[in-house]
Amino acid sequence: MSSDSQKPVLVWFRDDHRLSDNPALSAAAATGSQVLCFYVLDDESEGIRPLGAAACWWLHGSLKALSETLERAGSSLLILKGSALDLVESVVRETGASAVYWNRRYGAAEIAVDSAIKKRLSDAGIKVHSCSGRLLHEPWEITNQAGKPFQVFTPYLRAVNARSIKPPLPAPRRLKGGVWPRSILDRAIPLTELGLEPSFPDWAGGMRQVWERGEHAAQARFSRFIETGLKGYAERRDLPSQEGSSRLSPHLRFGEISPRQVWHAVMNAVAAEPGLGPDAEKFLSEIAWRDFTYQLLHFHPHLPDKPHSSRFDNFPWIQDRPSLKAWQKGLTGYPIVDAGMRQLWQTGWMHNRVRMITASFLVKHLLTDWRQGEAWFWDTLVDADPANNAFSWQWIAGSGPDSAPFHRIFNPVTQGEKFDPEGDYIRTFMPELSQLPPGFVHKPWEAPPAVLREAGVVLGETYPKPIVPHGPARERALEAFRSLRGLA
Ligand code: FAD
Repeated sequence: MSSDSQKPVLVWFRDDHRLSDNPALSAAAATGSQVLCFYVLDDESEGIRPLGAAACWWLHGSLKALSETLERAGSSLLILKGSALDLVESVVRETGASAVYWNRRYGAAEIAVDSAIKKRLSDAGIKVHSCSGRLLHEPWEITNQAGKPFQVFTPYLRAVNARSIKPPLPAPRRLKGGVWPRSILDRAIPLTELGLEPSFPDWAGGMRQVWERGEHAAQARFSRFIETGLKGYAERRDLPSQEGSSRLSPHLRFGEISPRQVWHAVMNAVAAEPGLGPDAEKFLSEIAWRDFTYQLLHFHPHLPDKPHSSRFDNFPWIQDRPSLKAWQKGLTGYPIVDAGMRQLWQTGWMHNRVRMITASFLVKHLLTDWRQGEAWFWDTLVDADPANNAFSWQWIAGSGPDSAPFHRIFNPVTQGEKFDPEGDYIRTFMPELSQLPPGFVHKPWEAPPAVLREAGVVLGETYPKPIVPHGPARERALEAFRSLRGLA
């Protein structure tokens, strides 16, 4: 019988596709044992939500990059597919591993799987080390004076700012790799056979043009942002025609960079250049929003599928498939909404301001249940995130904790004119409107016939007329809201 130090240890990667600041990997490496790394595409455990198509595309590149980085460090990544509960147990048994390391997850289904695995392994005398690698703080660490989780962001942020944030860990210099037993290698699946990337039709061309996946790409993007994007972030983040925000969201989603790395690098940048203070404060508050949504998901596991406020349980949503389709395809007749939906379709990402406008339009102008929008974003966003996406949709719908009030209804024309005054964003994604002058690019239906003719626009033919008029749609939404019990 070999002693524990001769047995390998396992690292189970899940949404933490990086070597630096990866507490599970660092702890495993520190044992001095052989480190065997694996990933499970869990398509069998109950309640685990399958990734959407765009996120699957991202996952492919992310796993490829992780696997290459692990190989350079002396290890490798084995990929399995099926029920995590069964697979992890058999991997442990067949490798004779002494311990398993992973970074924690916070969704209810994921916690149920992890707890069941932990129990089985602990009962069999195997050590399980679950580490904190996804968030700045664990959801249960930030509480109000009564020891309860916050429901409102501002005091939550204050509490975050009052605590120190652990410094990020360096990547282990070298990993002592090991050899997988034949029985497990036989079950391993080559990445290319997971079917994560589209082949025919290959709709990912626009995403390939915009994104590079993996830890190295995440760090490079972040360094560029610190050097050239942080200054002016507070103002430029709201302008969709500019690259005014970090675009780190898919990298954070897949754990290619950690929020602690982001936090400390920004603080260092401010220490070197104090003038960055206000922009850095705004940027870090967005990173804290991400933690906040995870805290909410952790304590309210139904966030993605149920209104947080029961007041919205019987909201009179309308089932209108043609309107939903028009919204999905970017054919609502409102240029800022349509440009956003096309940016999403082409690149797998949409600017935050435009996410708010498009989501508000679906929920309020079209009176469509926010869950249908959440599901579409889930399928089409490369950064589709269980906490951020669900929280943001409920925020827009007015049903979530610390939400925008329902009666705040974005006017898509004035929003467009305010945040894209020259119409540059529209022109990038809407070739059919690119010749319209700024005064009409957000409301082509008001353009005189000669202007439309000059721009090659035929309303109802080359570009739709608005599928709902703004004023009456707004009134209908408010009426629906008033009809909720207790508000009439
Ligand atoms: P930056 O402005 O550079 O912010 C840095 C990071 O902070 C982001 O990468 C993100 O991790 C976090 N962050 C920024 N804004 C928010 C926010 N409002 N709430 C929570 N975290 C935030 N974000 C996702 O990561 N995944 C989603 O699935 C998602 N769905 C959304 C759906 C709707 C309807 C709306 C209105 C917003 C959604 N967001 C989502 C939040 C936000 O739009 C994106 O995080 C942001 O646009 C990403 O761009 P960025 O990385 O350049 O952000």
